[in-house]
Amino acid sequence: MITPGERSPDPRSLGDAPVDPLSLLEADTTLAAAQPLLELVERYFAETGTGEGPVSTWHSAEAIADRLAADMPRHARPLAEVARRLSSLLLVDVNRLAHPMYIGHQVSAPLPAAVWTDALISALNQSQAVREMSPAFTPLEYQVIEWMTDLVGWDGRAGGTMTSGGTEATQTALLAARARAIPDVWARGVGTNPPVLVCGEHAHYAVTRAAGVMGLGQSHVVVVPSESQRMSIPAMRERLQSLRDAGKSVMAVVATAGCTATGAFDDLEAVADACDEFADTNGPLWLHVDAAHGGGAMLSARERPRVRGIHRARSVAWDPHKTLLLPLAAGMLLMREEHDLERAYAQSAPYLFTPSQDARAWDMGPRSFQCSRRADVLKVWVAFERYGADALAAVYEKLCDMARYLHERLSQHEEFTPLHVPESNILCFSWQPPGITDATERDTLTNALRERYNRSGRGWITATTLDGRRVLRITVMNARTGREHLDALVAGLESEAKRVMS
Ligand SMILES: *Cc1c(COP(=O)(O)O)cnc(C)c1O
Repeated sequence: MITPGERSPDPRSLGDAPVDPLSLLEADTTLAAAQPLLELVERYFAETGTGEGPVSTWHSAEAIADRLAADMPRHARPLAEVARRLSSLLLVDVNRLAHPMYIGHQVSAPLPAAVWTDALISALNQSQAVREMSPAFTPLEYQVIEWMTDLVGWDGRAGGTMTSGGTEATQTALLAARARAIPDVWARGVGTNPPVLVCGEHAHYAVTRAAGVMGLGQSHVVVVPSESQRMSIPAMRERLQSLRDAGKSVMAVVATAGCTATGAFDDLEAVADACDEFADTNGPLWLHVDAAHGGGAMLSARERPRVRGIHRARSVAWDPHKTLLLPLAAGMLLMREEHDLERAYAQSAPYLFTPSQDARAWDMGPRSFQCSRRADVLKVWVAFERYGADALAAVYEKLCDMARYLHERLSQHEEFTPLHVPESNILCFSWQPPGITDATERDTLTNALRERYNRSGRGWITATTLDGRRVLRITVMNARTGREHLDALVAGLESEAKRVMS
């Protein structure tokens, strides 16, 4: 084990000539120099592939912080030594998402081809803000966005942008909706009587956060209660009617396709119908679909019916870094009318964005919250080039099948009860500890069970609160996770449950 404070000898103190910084950098440009780092990736894929070894660490954040405490290194070390230190200091404590027993949050065990592409994206370091800084990948982003808008079912007027994720995509969509509702908002602000946002109670916090950031205030978010984890359509219509009666205007209605807690899909056709029916002087209400998680369903003929009606949205957020299994970060905002996007940020910056001679605006910066922006589109393109849409659809179907398999297994279980039929790759289930009737005590024991199981290193799952109660939750984000691993999860929970109760 290498201790963090340890330093390689300073060449100057050994009487050598001072280090030439350029030669230091040049020494790292070969495959041979990169080998120790690349081998860490290879070893990670290989070790997690066997399904052996712990899935996560049991060390506390404090213990890890203590181990890392060190002064800023002043002197160079060979890359191979850095790789060794990195391995012994840090890799021992990572969450191994590529391990088939990691069935936790909505972060993927990434597609290997995309992982290798990340190094190339960094090496080239093209910034997507301005076409002249990214001459090849700007048109590529337009192309990949077009694949996705075609998939939604939109025509040539559609467009979009890559984002850091669903949060930014939803924020940007709602800014565009704000610009439609209040045309001079960029100059004058939202005023004292801003329009409201309508969303389901299970909507991601991206929506309320956007309301805060946009200066609407959370009091201008109208939250519609759920029915079986979906936005209740009668309740939504009732809210829209009362808003109309009160003379309040609606900036946007946000529906969720694959909600975070349970993976349930809102009835997009019914929401779109209501948006048409409650149209105001601007036309139908702006429908934003947060498909950050469930957008992958669009690729699969079998799962596609869950997003029926998605083409009626005006904007769609979709994260390839969720169910398409891209590494972080790869988010997307798709717009039915590309020109809507130009209104989200009414920004001029003559030092950066120059008027285009072309028919198309090309520069991505004016439509994106980020200025400097990685060409993450390249890894999405490589994923489709390498695997093809059919294999990616099959992967999505497998993820969903595994959630259904666990649902089936637990349906006959005495202590664990599935709480919904999975609509995607997410399943919530409850634990009924024998002899415990008090709900608060059950919540405490449920938390303890998850903690014990995760600390055991055998697997890793999450928990959430559903209808006021703590429940266990899995998200299958790894193509390696099979039935045998879900059987092992049940066995692991059963044995940890016994320990919690003893
Ligand atoms: C994950 C998620 C988000 C947030 O996306 P980020 O990529 O984490 O910013 C928003 N909405 C839903 C439904 C999600 O599942």
